[in-house]
Amino acid sequence: MVDVSGAMPGGADGRVLPPQPWEHLTSETTRTVLRIQHHIVRSARRYLDDQGFVELLPPVIGPVTDPGIRGAKQVDVDYYGHRYKLMTSAFVYKQASLLAFDKIVYVAPNVRLEPLETCSTNRHLAEFHQLDIEVAGATREQIMELAEGVVGHVVDAVVSDMGDELAALGRDVTALSSWRSRPFARVPHAEAVRDLVEGGHMQDGGAEIDWAGEEILSIKADGPFFLTDYPKGSRCFLEKEDPDQPGVLRTFDLIMPGGYGEVISGGEREAHYPTLITRMRETGENPSKYGWYLQLSRHGVPSSSGFGLGLQRLTRFVAGLEYVWQAAAFPKVPGVVSP
Ligand code: AMP
Ligand code: MG
Repeated sequence: MVDVSGAMPGGADGRVLPPQPWEHLTSETTRTVLRIQHHIVRSARRYLDDQGFVELLPPVIGPVTDPGIRGAKQVDVDYYGHRYKLMTSAFVYKQASLLAFDKIVYVAPNVRLEPLETCSTNRHLAEFHQLDIEVAGATREQIMELAEGVVGHVVDAVVSDMGDELAALGRDVTALSSWRSRPFARVPHAEAVRDLVEGGHMQDGGAEIDWAGEEILSIKADGPFFLTDYPKGSRCFLEKEDPDQPGVLRTFDLIMPGGYGEVISGGEREAHYPTLITRMRETGENPSKYGWYLQLSRHGVPSSSGFGLGLQRLTRFVAGLEYVWQAAAFPKVPGVVSP
């Protein structure tokens, strides 16, 4: 178990919260974790660069941002008298960026005021970063292969180059990479729901898997697996409905084993203008808020697939950390006043 000495007990529920910045930033544990994170980002960039990806610097504010954030609140910014938002996810910008290049990547900061109950999941921050990827013309299957490639490459890089650091953190390298010889499994959402309900966990079949359910599935798993085919209504308007299975979206999450849970969400995107308008209305979004984006899609944006990979979450998994805040230099745990 990683040393979190200096960390503060978080009250009655026994949660451990980040220590003050001086203690956190000068702790050997934090330095080791941040060096591993640096190697994760560097290895992912190299891998994507070799495949022809162009890294763009992501927008931070905009008139709209991702509405599909599971109960988290968006943060308003006064932009010369207009109400803008801090990015909860740059998803519409990723799709728009394909007008310039076919394969794009951002390392993007996101701010989400997550519901207070997420402060005890050990995997939520109010500010985090995504490795955001979008590929023109790609199918969901192709983008899942890419996700598997990026995660596999990054884990291999850390295991082969940072053995001493992993040992210092007490991370069992065998457990970390025992699944590397086989492809990631694929489990449809309906099957995961059945499994949870049969095991006594009340999971709503029409919604995203809840935090507790995600943890149960992750603890049971013997390797990373893709959770596919979310039901319509559980995700935002940009996720494409499967033409062969009405009511099912061409989405996926990547769940890591060991209780670490989800590190990626992605899927195939809806690019057809009239369908986007319908989907916005179906998901309770007002199309008039999306002026610039709908104007673009009326002129035509490429069909695409993409995903967002949570960098603090992946660091937590690779380094074997108890808390996701250990993977942030300046952690913001939901509800906790922090620098
Ligand atoms: P989402 O589109 O909401 O699934 O977010 C994409 C990815 O970002 C997730 O798969 C996580 O890896 C990461 N992520 C989402 N929300 C948070 C959060 N509150 N704290 C840390 N990482 C997050
Ligand atoms: Mg998700």
